[in-house]
Amino acid sequence: MNEATLILIKPDGLKKSLTGNILTRLSETKLEIVAAKIVRVSRELAETHYAHLRDKAFFPDLIKYIQGELHNRRKVMALVYWGEDAISKCRQLAGATNPEEAESTSIRGAYGRITTSGLYENVVHVSANQGDAKREIKLWFKPSEIIVDLYPTKEVLKDNVKVKVWA
Ligand code: UDP
Ligand code: MG
Repeated sequence: MNEATLILIKPDGLKKSLTGNILTRLSETKLEIVAAKIVRVSRELAETHYAHLRDKAFFPDLIKYIQGELHNRRKVMALVYWGEDAISKCRQLAGATNPEEAESTSIRGAYGRITTSGLYENVVHVSANQGDAKREIKLWFKPSEIIVDLYPTKEVLKDNVKVKVWA
């Protein structure tokens, strides 16, 4: 079944000049890129994205990490991949969350590390399931930034101009 997944190239991936390598690996999936941009991650976006991990001891470090404070790269690359079994194909290529447990040929296995404080710097984010993908894509992208219709939208007036927002 066709589905979408959010991919983030995290600040360590950008700092290590891995953008090209990661996109090349992802192209093995033959999925279609339907949205892409560079994002400066606000604290609010970071905390909303990782809301399910709020109670974890590593949460403050995780927020600093995704905001680029640990790598002096205050940006991430956000993409939406779309196609047959997009989530499982991209999660498979990304590898396990813990880079030491990830297959060595996976993106995280090849390029990830565990910091001395115990945080997994694992280079990429991939939505874990369709529910997460929907929540995350709607959080990171506006309807007009995605070239296919993924989720229901509605039109609202903003400064007297009609704009599409998520319904
Ligand atoms: N993370 C960590 N330690 C853990 C679990 C997660 O540092 O024990 C970090 C890691 O960067 C991971 C992110 O928190 O990618 C989000 O965790 P999640 O469990 O959602 O894993 P993912 O979906 O990214 O594989
Ligand atoms: Mg996750």
